[in-house]
Amino acid sequence: MRQSHLFLPIRREPPKDETFANAQLLLRAGFADKLMAGVFSIFPAGLGVVRNIEGIVRDELQKTGAVELAMPSLQQPKIWEETGRWKTLPPEMFQFKDRADHPIGLAMTHEEVVFDIVRRNIQSFRDLPLKLYQFQTKFRDEPRPKSGLMRGREFLMKDLYSFHATREDLEEYYEEVSQAYDRIFKRCGLKAVRVEAPGGIFTKNPSHEFQVVAEGGEDEIALCKNCDFAKNAELLEKGIKKCPQCSATIVRHISSEVGNIFRFYDKYAKDMNGYVMGPQGENLPIFLASYGIGISRLMATIVEVFHDERGIMWPESVAPFLVHIVQLGDGEVVKKEAQKIYAALQEAGLEVLYDDREKSAGEKFMEADLVGIPWRVVVSAKTVAQGKVEVKKRSEDKAELMTIEELVKRLKK
Ligand SMILES: [Zn+2]
Repeated sequence: MRQSHLFLPIRREPPKDETFANAQLLLRAGFADKLMAGVFSIFPAGLGVVRNIEGIVRDELQKTGAVELAMPSLQQPKIWEETGRWKTLPPEMFQFKDRADHPIGLAMTHEEVVFDIVRRNIQSFRDLPLKLYQFQTKFRDEPRPKSGLMRGREFLMKDLYSFHATREDLEEYYEEVSQAYDRIFKRCGLKAVRVEAPGGIFTKNPSHEFQVVAEGGEDEIALCKNCDFAKNAELLEKGIKKCPQCSATIVRHISSEVGNIFRFYDKYAKDMNGYVMGPQGENLPIFLASYGIGISRLMATIVEVFHDERGIMWPESVAPFLVHIVQLGDGEVVKKEAQKIYAALQEAGLEVLYDDREKSAGEKFMEADLVGIPWRVVVSAKTVAQGKVEVKKRSEDKAELMTIEELVKRLKK
């Protein structure tokens, strides 16, 4: 992609009303735009990151046998009244009237919808298990939307729901998804820990959340300096400073919840009358569990973790481009060489952003650091004279001269 064609509006000044690094950097680097508190547009480069994260999530969920579908955002009270949540979810759940004066809501989660779909479409225990997921924009009327894209009133979410004939089967799949989550966050470059969740608005049964140590987070986790002990700080006994497992020091960290998993067991079967026929013709409750990952929050968390004073440092797995070609000067020779390198890298199947704009070297370097593409390749009169390009990783200070062939070999690794 030529940078002159990409809509990547880079802003010099940080937004005044956004204090968190993720919002400051995503807005300044042209990845997102703020419409109002907690409501953001995602610009093309930001959407590239979102698509990469979605690709990783989709890949790992498919390995567990889950299949993708799409469910509506617009809701009517009927099925939500079966669980009582039409009354208990507001004010977080947006509710209003349509033109015929009928109550309408915007879904912030889909247990009722998906459970209704499944109970109407399967009859036998042989139809289970079922694992259904979607990527969707969700709505939540936050009292004080803050932390930039970490907590929005409108946000991207992956929600997965699993249906089982037995409690044991649910438990087994719950652990399988938990492991898939570990792989997802790892592939996104993050070190997430699974901790027991404090009681939330969703369920009384024990559930778990995946937390990443990140400056702009809203949670706090306690980690042992020595072993793998991890706990949501809310659940940690007051004043406790030593690890219960190994008695080393416990340190509290600000963290961001990037995923959560819930076991509802037969709650929905009872509330919504969802049963299938068992092997002896008996009625079996449909067991339900649900699993969320905040996609836009994950992008924001990645920025919170991977940035320095100059800008974002995208991990290669989610970066919108792998390579940023920076052409210095617009002499014919340099231009020709830069275009040749751009074509060669694309030919090699690499995602390339080519800065073909007429700007000073200082400005281009500053902006490249802000945007944070993992590899920077400089093409200038000096490098052309040497028959090489200057290559630098965003996360390192040292630049190296190499030929195009050497560069392709390095990037293909
Ligand atoms: Zn320990």
